[in-house]
Amino acid sequence: MSAAASTPPQTADDAPPPEKTSGFDGKRAFAHVAKQVSFGPHPSGSPAITKVQDYLLAELKSYGCFVETDSFGADTPIGRLNMKNILVKIPGEKPGVILLGTHYDTLLMDNFVGADDAGSSTAVMLELARLLCPQKGKFAVWIAFFDGEEAMKRWSDTDSRYGSRQMAARFSSSGDIKKIRAFLLADIVGGRKARFLRESTSTPALVDLIWNTAAKLGYSALFLNEGSSAEDDHDSFLKRDVPSVDVIGDFTNNGYWHTPQDSLDKISAKTLAIVGHVFLESVKQLQAK
Ligand SMILES: [Zn+2]
Repeated sequence: MSAAASTPPQTADDAPPPEKTSGFDGKRAFAHVAKQVSFGPHPSGSPAITKVQDYLLAELKSYGCFVETDSFGADTPIGRLNMKNILVKIPGEKPGVILLGTHYDTLLMDNFVGADDAGSSTAVMLELARLLCPQKGKFAVWIAFFDGEEAMKRWSDTDSRYGSRQMAARFSSSGDIKKIRAFLLADIVGGRKARFLRESTSTPALVDLIWNTAAKLGYSALFLNEGSSAEDDHDSFLKRDVPSVDVIGDFTNNGYWHTPQDSLDKISAKTLAIVGHVFLESVKQLQAK
């Protein structure tokens, strides 16, 4: 055995060519994960997370995206924290919104950089924004980057999902919540050995949409017909009757979830590209409805 076998190289060498994944570039997505990791641990309210926010905003603007931000104070068990949601808005021709989302904060833990949780899904959403911002579909596509998904002390309804609760509440006040036809959430989607299970609290029709799309594209080895359940940012929208699905890697069995081992060597450009491809094609299906 060579040393390389036990220490996987931190490269995007397994990325499929973008033309095989509807233009989604796994190498670019991998680079977005590496960049987020380079900022170090970035829990909500930390100096490092402001660098991640600046990076996200600079990238999104370079793609020509229209971006809104919402800075808010969140009362947490460790005090009031400044948080920031970032929302890309791509206009459509008819009323109705397809919402995509990820969180970008990392768990508050020493040496936790969160390559997979949530560097991977944030990277996928950046790459989706690059592809979707120049397009105009039947329905608007909004892409949410949530702050404050992670608990500051212990996961509960009040200590977690700060950003998505904030955005869902704002959409309720503005009336936008009624326009959202579907919410597709990604979380922990970049693992070299990722497997995706049907999340049981998600809206069944949207789970079917994602899984049927994945099957058609030949990804049934990753998108398994087994169930699991996860509390995540989709809950904030399910509670307000928005059809929602959480596409989340089987984190309980990945061996590094919420540990300092959630590092760049766990990430596969190929997995990122597959998830990106499934999201792109699922959005096309939603645009055709
Ligand atoms: Zn997490």
